[in-house]
Amino acid sequence: KESLDKGLEQTKSSFLGKITRAVAGKSKVDALVLDDLEEALISADVSVETTLEIIERIESRVAKDKYLGEGELKAILKDEIAALVRKGDKVDFAAEPTATPYVILVVGVNGVGKTTTIGKIAHQFKAAGKDVVLGAADTFRAAAVHQLQIWGERVGVPVVAQKMGSDPASVAFDTVSSAVAKNADVVIIDTAGRLHNKAGLMSELGKIKRVISKVLPDAPHETLLVLDASTGQNAIEQAKQFTEVTNVNAMALTKLDGTAKGGVVIGISHQFDIPVKYIGIGEQMNDLRLFEPEAFVDSLFE
Ligand code: GDP
Repeated sequence: KESLDKGLEQTKSSFLGKITRAVAGKSKVDALVLDDLEEALISADVSVETTLEIIERIESRVAKDKYLGEGELKAILKDEIAALVRKGDKVDFAAEPTATPYVILVVGVNGVGKTTTIGKIAHQFKAAGKDVVLGAADTFRAAAVHQLQIWGERVGVPVVAQKMGSDPASVAFDTVSSAVAKNADVVIIDTAGRLHNKAGLMSELGKIKRVISKVLPDAPHETLLVLDASTGQNAIEQAKQFTEVTNVNAMALTKLDGTAKGGVVIGISHQFDIPVKYIGIGEQMNDLRLFEPEAFVDSLFE
């Protein structure tokens, strides 16, 4: 809880500050208050779509011109935001995987924190006693393979890699085959996120998924989209684009520690039918949290 509060410090002070200014000294829910609140939420990086929904919910819940103190209005707002933030299944790193090996394919634009997030997730599984294998299927950047190898060493898990420029699908195939041979529990595969070419990305991810399913028919079990929360509305844009090119079923939002734009988590969680599974609150191995909607909303308001 403390580390979460600390990680969300900038978002919290900006978010709560904006909300407080919008409702300060107000005692009546009228059009003016709602306008100010709408502006506050949008400027706190909650998306326009989600903001309008929140305002609508408040409007239908509180009669117009109703007399309400600042504290009560804030409580209602918190309540409505909490209702919109999607709850996903909580990960239990120590639980028996639903499939063996459980294969996670990690996608997202370069620089958002994919490799770091993979290292952190690998660490959590490893610490819970699971055998993990990583796959370096971002074969376009030497630095990406190298970074993943550094994380592999740090966490103490093997990394399957081939030489630069080799076929990402072939690396994915090798990784899953090696995990099956070793009877590993979890496989996490890094991919290249070259969004400038949507058709190319779609066929590349499609091919990786097809090849993986040749080794294990149900795999990948999870396609995890990593988004950089500090890019605010850009992260929502990337989520739209990635969900158009491939089937995403979990999301990770990184870099919440260095930004005031964490309100974007509310928009992303509400707008996409995909649970936010992880949040990143720092560069170190332990700076990953399971996303818990209640704790997140509490952290913003308290
Ligand atoms: P990739 O290109 O998507 O694989 O991105 P990297 O994992 O290499 O991360 C890019 C940069 O973001 C690195 O400097 C990371 O240390 C940093 N980074 C990743 N996640 C977080 C986070 O949660 N908080 C902070 N402050 N930095 C992060």
